Amino acid sequence: MKYDLVCGMETHIELSTLSKLFCKCRVNFGDSPNENCCPICIGAPGTLPILNKQAVRYAIRMGLALNCKINSFSKMERKCYFYPDLSKNFQTSQNDLPLCSGGFVQLESGKKIRINHIHIEEDAGKIKRHSDGIYVDYNRGGVPLIEIVSEPDISSADEAQEYIEKLQLFARYLKISSARMQEGSIRCDVNVSVKPSNSNELGTRVEIKNMNSISFISKAIAYEYERQSDALEGGLPIEQETRRFNEASGMTESMRNKENASEYCYFPEPDLLSICVTEKELDDIKKEMPKLFSERYDYYLNLGISEKFARLIIKYVNVSDYFDEVIRDCKVPDKIASIIVGPIFSYLKTEVEKEKFDISVSTDDLKYLGNLISEDKISNSNAQKVVSKCLENGFDLKEEVKNFISDDSFDLEKICKDVLSQNTEAVKDYKNGKEKAIQALVGKVMAQTKGRANPEKILSIMKSLI
Ligand SMILES: [Zn+2]
Repeated sequence: MKYDLVCGMETHIELSTLSKLFCKCRVNFGDSPNENCCPICIGAPGTLPILNKQAVRYAIRMGLALNCKINSFSKMERKCYFYPDLSKNFQTSQNDLPLCSGGFVQLESGKKIRINHIHIEEDAGKIKRHSDGIYVDYNRGGVPLIEIVSEPDISSADEAQEYIEKLQLFARYLKISSARMQEGSIRCDVNVSVKPSNSNELGTRVEIKNMNSISFISKAIAYEYERQSDALEGGLPIEQETRRFNEASGMTESMRNKENASEYCYFPEPDLLSICVTEKELDDIKKEMPKLFSERYDYYLNLGISEKFARLIIKYVNVSDYFDEVIRDCKVPDKIASIIVGPIFSYLKTEVEKEKFDISVSTDDLKYLGNLISEDKISNSNAQKVVSKCLENGFDLKEEVKNFISDDSFDLEKICKDVLSQNTEAVKDYKNGKEKAIQALVGKVMAQTKGRANPEKILSIMKSLI
């Protein structure tokens, strides 16, 4: 029998507010354990939380980007459970009245993955296992999160990957989170079930907890699909349970039976007021929404950037921000794009490096280089060489570029004529349709001018002489 995969996701995104959701403790990844804690986020008796408005604004940004309805009235609730990483014995979250409802994420195929809702909640601490014992770091406890809950509309591991990458990109463009899987600022719980293709009835779902790598998410989904379809094929029941992905074996394994919502004893948080969003507040948030990747992509195409380059640039928000800054009042945006996708991307080898985009060549340097290109004072290939050299050696671009600025004092026509007369074979090859032959001739002229002439100019002289 053929089986369909049915998958929904719960995605947690840590919001990059300066302070925690209910207190003034600093939010910063990598600080020493328990450095950013106070009686409020630890949940000491008698303390009172105060809601961080910026977290609500950030959550609304995501809601607007994902086409959700922003509810003018929502409330916080206590989700009660005991675990050492939660010193309050309850997590302050939202349940039946979340901040945002409905909405969708559209995939490249046009398919829409519907969003059930987005709610705000606080993060829990972190349990750290050492050789001499188990420790708890409460720095993360109380950090604001949004949880984006999708409908079970995802039907392949590839769709799951695209969906999560889109959410990551939204979070980064909206400037609400670094959304780094490796730092845990975006994490996923994945619900997977299978059903016979000819049936409309959903199968029993299994939840895979705390996925923190996109490739593991894909692998875990693919594994669960096989495991569950094999079980059904063999007439075995699927248990409703929580599973974890074992990175070493590439398999999922059982953790515990799945809790139902009723077991969490949700009840309204008595220490916090309801969240009311006025029309005016919503309008203000809409006004400050940053430009999203789809909008920037269209803008780049209008500037004459190729689809391929535009796609590569919008993949990383820091690259896109840098590019936007350089091309403001720039006459050669396409040349700047090829410097970014060329030497800069070759220098930043990993995805993480490209995403962080921490380079020594400033936007000001690249603007300067762009002006030289548009004034024909440096060739494209030399401009790329300069950037490469500066990145690798930490050279100052404005100094280094002096060695590459085109020298107009050469009698290019004469040098070209000489080269042509000395290389009659290559000329013949070119005339017979071998395009590459002319490049070799340009190279010879470049060698004679020690790289200081403009290769584009040489090429056009060559062509007119032949
Ligand atoms: Zn605190």
